[in-house]
Parts: sequence; C-alpha cells; structure tokens
Amino acid sequence: MSALRIEGIVGGYGDLTVLRNISFAVEGGQLLVLAGPNGAGKTTLLATVMGALRPSAGSVKLDDEELLGLPIHRRTRMGLGLVPEGRGLFPSLTVWENLRVAARAARLRSAQAEEGIERATAAFPIIGERLRQKVQSLSGGEQQMVAIGRALLTDPSVLLLDEPSMGLAPIIWQQVLDTCRRLADEGRVVVVVEQRVLEALRVADRCVVLQQGRVVRDGTVEAGAELPELAESYFSAEGARR
Ligand code: ATP
Repeated sequence: MSALRIEGIVGGYGDLTVLRNISFAVEGGQLLVLAGPNGAGKTTLLATVMGALRPSAGSVKLDDEELLGLPIHRRTRMGLGLVPEGRGLFPSLTVWENLRVAARAARLRSAQAEEGIERATAAFPIIGERLRQKVQSLSGGEQQMVAIGRALLTDPSVLLLDEPSMGLAPIIWQQVLDTCRRLADEGRVVVVVEQRVLEALRVADRCVVLQQGRVVRDGTVEAGAELPELAESYFSAEGARR
C-alpha cells in the first residue's frame, strides 16, 4: 500500500515562512485528520504537497519517490488527489462538464476519463443522476460529492481534502465522513483538514495538530476517549463548538 512521507518541510509564501519543519507520514488505509487553529498552515501544507507552493527545505515522498520539483499534473498522475477548500467547481458548467475539464487537466485519455467517471458515480450515485445539471443547481452536499468524485477520476492513492464540511448540514457531513472512511479502507491515504474536528475524529485513525506552522501533536485516535480534551486543548473556540 502507498505511503505519503513529509519530512522537514519549511515553506510558505515568498519571504513569509508558514511551515516550520513539518514531518509526519501516513500509510495507505489510514484516515488522518489534520487539525489546528485558523492560520496554523494546514492549507499551505496541502498546497505544498500538491506542488502549488515550493518549500525552501524538506521532502515529500510518495512510496519513496520524491515529489518536490514535479509539477502538479505529474503529482496527480503519480497518485495525489486534492479536494480543495471551497470545492473549486465551475458553477455554471454541468457536472459532466466539470468532470471532463478535470479529466483534461489531468491529461487522462478518453477511456481513462470514462473509467474515472464510472468510479466517481460508483462512489456517489447522485453524480450519475445529476450529470446533465449545472453545478450551481445542486445542493451543497451534492456539490461536495462532485468535488470528491472529481478527485477520484485519477484513482488517487493519496486523497487530500481541505475543509470538506464547509456549508454542509450535519447529516450530509456524516455521509461525507463515511465516504472518506470507505476510501481509506480501500487502501488509500486520506488526509482531511478540518475545523469541525470532533465528528471527523470519530472516523479517523490519526490526528496531527498544527500550531503556528509546527506539529504539536501526532497520535492515534483511541476510541474517542481523548476527543473533548483534544478539542479544548488545540482548536479555536469556534472550531470546538461547532
Ligand atoms: P484556516 O483554517 O483559516 O484555513 P490554515 O491552517 O489552513 O487556516 P493557511 O491558510 O495555511 O492556514 O495560512 C497560514 C498562514 O499563511 C496565515 O498566516 C495566512 O495569512 C498566510 N497565507 C495564506 N495564504 C497566503 C497567501 N496566498 N499569501 C501570503 N500569505 C498567505
């Protein structure tokens, strides 16, 4: 099974250092919640792993292959998939058009794209039912499912999700979490960046907490016993209440 290894990452935006020597590894089959207060560097770390930002030091390896220096589309082809914050869908295009645009960006051949769309609709049957509808006509939950389905086009071995709960009703959020768990159980590395952390930890194996660009906690989630303690200790009051 695949493994994602992040070692000694220092990086940020130009002269602004946000990530200060971040290291952790995630194995296939594991669902890791990446938590921490606003501004801790969670989105910056995902952008660095995907290749949108170049770190000044460190290493990101997928199955012992160095990813740093490779463009985003190469990393996508090697097995990284991202569901970005805010979903990044084109609202005025149909679901099918959104998937085709993503397939083209990932440089999938048409047979691979068809296979990918089948994979997405198998994971979320609602996608198949809504293919000809514009994304803007879908509910928030359906849009999130399209965003995750789009990431599944390339059959990623590592799936990164940035704040997937945003705008979702509790019952839909639970469905999205159950899907994340299933995707991990299929052998993928699944990393979920979340503020609504208590619910996310219920389906997680691991939790890494970032604070001011550093890992301040990295451990397994034990039967939920430590969840309230985690919430009080590390998260913003807003995140803990939600
Ligand atoms: P949130 O939960 O609010 O999304 P986060 O943990 O994801 O927080 P980041 O978005 O990674 O945090 O931001 C980390 C730091 O980097 C913050 O100080 C933020 O202001 C800064 N930052 C984020 N994006 C940029 C950017 N494009 N240019 C410069 N600084 C940025």
